Amino acid sequence: MEKENHDLRAIFVPFLSTSHIIPLVDMARLFAMHGVDVTILTTSHNATIFQKSIDLDSARGRPIRTHSLKFPASMVGLPAGVEAFNVDAGKDMLPKIFMGLAILQPEMESLFQQLNADFIVTDMFYPWSVDAAAKLGIPRIMFHGASYLARSALHSVQHYKPYLKVDSDSEKFVLPDLPHELEMTRLQIPEWVRTPNLYTELMRTIAESEKRSYGSLFNSFYELESDYYVHYKKVMGTKSWGLGPVSLWANQDASDKAARGQTKPESQEEEGWLKWLNTKPENSVLYVSFGSMNKFPNSQLVEIGHALEGSGHNFIWVVRKNEEEGGGSFLEEFEKRVRKSGKGYLIWGWAPQLLILENAAIGGLVTHCGWNTVVESVNAGLPMVTWPLFAEHFFNEKLVVDVLRIGVPVGVKEWRNWNEFGSQVVSREDIGKAIASLMGGGEEDSEMRRRAKKLSVEAKKAIKVGGSSHNNILELIQDLHSLKLSKAQQHNNP
Ligand code: UDP
Repeated sequence: MEKENHDLRAIFVPFLSTSHIIPLVDMARLFAMHGVDVTILTTSHNATIFQKSIDLDSARGRPIRTHSLKFPASMVGLPAGVEAFNVDAGKDMLPKIFMGLAILQPEMESLFQQLNADFIVTDMFYPWSVDAAAKLGIPRIMFHGASYLARSALHSVQHYKPYLKVDSDSEKFVLPDLPHELEMTRLQIPEWVRTPNLYTELMRTIAESEKRSYGSLFNSFYELESDYYVHYKKVMGTKSWGLGPVSLWANQDASDKAARGQTKPESQEEEGWLKWLNTKPENSVLYVSFGSMNKFPNSQLVEIGHALEGSGHNFIWVVRKNEEEGGGSFLEEFEKRVRKSGKGYLIWGWAPQLLILENAAIGGLVTHCGWNTVVESVNAGLPMVTWPLFAEHFFNEKLVVDVLRIGVPVGVKEWRNWNEFGSQVVSREDIGKAIASLMGGGEEDSEMRRRAKKLSVEAKKAIKVGGSSHNNILELIQDLHSLKLSKAQQHNNP
């Protein structure tokens, strides 16, 4: 279903973090799949995260390419190669990465003009791009890395401030003016909302830039969160399109799935997980992963390890050693033990998540509720144990547990800044209980599984001809075409 839209030229600019790059690049690839001429602007090191996918698409004859920029690492005092907000960037490096980005801004702006873009799609973290687009008289479309529910819930807490109307941090309140009665506590609301800081100001600027944008794109689909899809557009008064699940749509071949987010050469290790998984019965394996940014302290890794071993279920655990704490010996012993018993498989660092989730042996996830992972689990029809950490994870947990009813909460009580855990450790008992209700085979477990499978069918429909996301991309491209034509007409007949 590839359309000829070659006269429409777009520039996509992902933010410099793996989990914002992955879905926006998938979206860029969808536009190219529909014939729009696409250039992705990013820095050279970040391009390595997705270049394989672009090469595959280009070989398929799709009009897509990457334009790499040199990140000014030495100018901002960073070692070469540190140019993304990910797990390897220390806290002191973050402001420097922002500085590097600010240095690149004029170059990006002039590329919008040089490359003759008809529209730009930029990450939410580039609010300046709405003015850059306005100068050129072209639309800016903003990419949101979150769910419609999360954005609606954030709007609700910022607007109504319900967390100020309770007497304690643990007292529950309902998030006002949302389609469902969703309850949270003060400590589960992002700290930057409760105690304004520089990030609060950035988020205010982002919201303001969204109102002036042509519209926004989400990696979501109507059937997944229809009430919030409608609610969000109503409260924001802006246009928005759900194009998800982008991972399912853009990565239809095994080669695409394997290339996604791959930052290191393929290794024997990967074949190992597949061989191991293929020996396991259907729905028997738990996939445990906390996304691309998390690095737990050793005390937490120990609790997870014991909980998994004690659960009696098979598991694949994607794990990162906490080198700063000098840890690792527990994990090494643990790995030897569970390999021997055949119960568990550890993947160090990065796992080919899409390939793993679609394997029939996987029966559920333990997840931090990163939005991409939630959507990918829904694709795969899998229920989840929810373990929110930071960002908008606690809002996503509400969608999974209370609205869709395909998740069991591990019971996290407090939103924390990225990789700041304080003394909070989720105990092996709490983890074990949540795993038991997810994988225990009881009636509630079967109901959750049935609901998750139903959503997976909806996800597959959404991206097919006539499906909601499919219609959305066609409608949007059509709108952008008409806009270009009317501009050209105005130019010819001023
Ligand atoms: N991912 C992966 N392998 C990993 C870790 C993450 O493929 O080992 C991918 C995952 O499939 C998802 C993204 O990285 O697309 C993580 O995004 P998410 O929003 O779930 O979490 P975040 O990384 O923002 O915490």
